Amino acid sequence: MRVISDLQLHSKYSRAVSPQMMIPFIGLWAKIKGIGLIATGDWTHPLWMREIKANLTEDGSGLLKLKKSDERFTEDGPFFLLESEVSCIYTQGGKGRRVHTLIWSPTIDTCDKINKELTRRGANLLSDGRPIIGLTSIQVAEVVFSIDPKCLIVPAHVWTPWFSMYGSKSGFDSIADCYGEYAKDIFAVETGLSSDPSMNWRIKELDNRSIVSFSDAHSGPKLGREATVFELAELSYQAIRKAIMTPAESVKREAESNNKSNNDSSSLNAKRLTLNANNIAYTLEFYPEEGKYHYTGHRACGVKQDPRETGEKGTVCPVCGKPLTIGVMHRVEELAGRSEADLKLTTREVQGTKVKGIYSDAFPGRPPYIKLVPLQEIIAETIGGAPTAVNVQNEYKKLTNQFSNEFAVLLQISIPDIAKAAGEKIAQAIHKVREGDIVIDPGYDGVFGIVKIWGEEGKKKLSDDKKQLSLL
Ligand SMILES: [Zn+2]
Ligand SMILES: [Zn+2]
Repeated sequence: MRVISDLQLHSKYSRAVSPQMMIPFIGLWAKIKGIGLIATGDWTHPLWMREIKANLTEDGSGLLKLKKSDERFTEDGPFFLLESEVSCIYTQGGKGRRVHTLIWSPTIDTCDKINKELTRRGANLLSDGRPIIGLTSIQVAEVVFSIDPKCLIVPAHVWTPWFSMYGSKSGFDSIADCYGEYAKDIFAVETGLSSDPSMNWRIKELDNRSIVSFSDAHSGPKLGREATVFELAELSYQAIRKAIMTPAESVKREAESNNKSNNDSSSLNAKRLTLNANNIAYTLEFYPEEGKYHYTGHRACGVKQDPRETGEKGTVCPVCGKPLTIGVMHRVEELAGRSEADLKLTTREVQGTKVKGIYSDAFPGRPPYIKLVPLQEIIAETIGGAPTAVNVQNEYKKLTNQFSNEFAVLLQISIPDIAKAAGEKIAQAIHKVREGDIVIDPGYDGVFGIVKIWGEEGKKKLSDDKKQLSLL
């Protein structure tokens, strides 16, 4: 079975989050988006944990279901996975570190035990849905895995300059530096909005780890702006864990080494099947250029540089002389063990969709990824108005009602059918997004990039932009 998952979000108990982010509301938006498995968010917060216990029930699979028989929710979901994010602020190796880490747990009991231990070690979990704690990333891993080794720890938005494992301002150069002896238990990293999987495929220590993508949403409409699509033997926590722990490259390697040592092809096939029963089919990505830390720059001075310019001009703001905020692209260049050309990227339609995905011919075991623009943004840019405007919302509701959900519209429904429902122009816009035929003014130093599906300004096609940058 295939399930679209979004396993990182925040509740109304986190800073700058919509007060509507309550469990039933999150469930409703998951349905509108087409997300079958959604994060609870924030289970470290005592009041939010109370909401989780009041609204959701554990079904024995390691996942949770909405408790009350609410007619808005059907038998098949959405299902919830216990997810929380902690912000560790500490000093290590004489340098200030700020790292955000996702913790996934298979039971409420495990969450309660972890919360108790974090509190015992001085964390104020009531302070925020995403609490700031003074423990190191290593100490967090120690607490979590000693309580329940089935938990998963995933470094969040792994390239953002200020709050991530590889962050240019307060991160580390390797997983081992950040998580110490627990590095071997870190099976995946989350890309964040400003990087896409192929940027991560250039980092050699990620070769045997999964690359996952989630929304980190602070409001309903932002759910699923990035997502991971799993192919699972069954929908359970254990199946998700296996899929994450079995990155495709190691499946391939294991199969190959079996092939050499064992000529019994039936046993090899059996082994392959068991390894492949749970895996990541593909990920859905925000255009990384749209992320707010893609390029290097200084927001206050309006200074923005691509990595080539940073290479030539350095990292000091030419206007005010302060250090520039190093963008994700430049930081990837710093840590990369191979070039983009080494990946041999190609595009072809992803199975089960009508959209072209990006594949690596050099690493054929890597799941492909699809770059999308959220439907409300597509409609807003096509008919005019903000994504929240009434005319945009009406079109959005019409399309998501008629075709069940947003991901069906973006990934599966034929363009002629969309045209019949929403008119030629919106259908064409969705076609352009599916083909990657759009222009983006890249984000930098906290400023989101701007998507131009019908861009007159800028004119520069994204593909030209890419070509120029790959000359580096
Ligand atoms: Zn975060
Ligand atoms: Zn400046």
